[in-house]
Amino acid sequence: MGRVVFIGAGPGAADLITVRGASRLAAADVVLYDALTDPALRAHAPRAEWIDVGKRGFCHSTHQAEIDALLVETARRHAVVVRLKGGDPSVFGRLEEELAALAQAGIECEVVPGVTAALAAAAAAQRPLTRRARGRSIALSTAMTRERRLEAGRSADTQVYYMAGRQLAELGARLLAAGWTQDTPVLVVSRAGWPDEAQSSHAVATLAEAAARHAGRPTVVVVGAGASPLALAAPTLPHEQDQAGTPKGEA
Ligand code: SAH
Repeated sequence: MGRVVFIGAGPGAADLITVRGASRLAAADVVLYDALTDPALRAHAPRAEWIDVGKRGFCHSTHQAEIDALLVETARRHAVVVRLKGGDPSVFGRLEEELAALAQAGIECEVVPGVTAALAAAAAAQRPLTRRARGRSIALSTAMTRERRLEAGRSADTQVYYMAGRQLAELGARLLAAGWTQDTPVLVVSRAGWPDEAQSSHAVATLAEAAARHAGRPTVVVVGAGASPLALAAPTLPHEQDQAGTPKGEA
């Protein structure tokens, strides 16, 4: 009986995996991976058997129950099975089902965290998700319910929506209905962490403008404090300084 290591591959480029993730991957006999994973990651485990169990959003190409069963069956036949997931395994990654299936079969597991898409988006745009005084909380939310309805709320200063890429115009309307004001800043980042990542800035009222730019790409939508541009301090002009170089009024 083998063990299963869940590894967060990060949001894109292969070098965004953690050092621990890469070293566990190197020990794998079999790797079950998702469609969003960078093929360059294969270099870490060239002799392992790689099995694509990928699915994107709600367009399942492999049903979750089949993945659960495949994990159990593979772990019974091999010493080290890696379950490689995009971003972080604990964020919208169906980790609960897979851990439960393995626990039920008495198979030992380990989880190695990864960089989730929201963090890669914040890094890409250089817009911190928390801000002193005005951005004190972050919510990672899915915009999709199980019934594939779009849903938006307002539960944190910075709210990051996953899985809304195809419905940005409708998301704008839902955000207004949830109490965000028309001029609330919104940052949209698609394929964050990839060489072809794209980002655009909007307001809640004009979010529909983002639809064409990010169409067909994995996208996160950052709403609120964390989406706002940096507050640059006004430069102190020479005539505003006293002779010691101290700005007037700050002595
Ligand atoms: N476990 C993943 C999320 C999987 S759900 C993570 O932690 O990032 C799939 C959703 O994640 C996509 O619909 C999209 O909203 C988001 N996503 C995944 N990769 C992304 C990327 N590189 N850039 C922007 N959004 C991404």
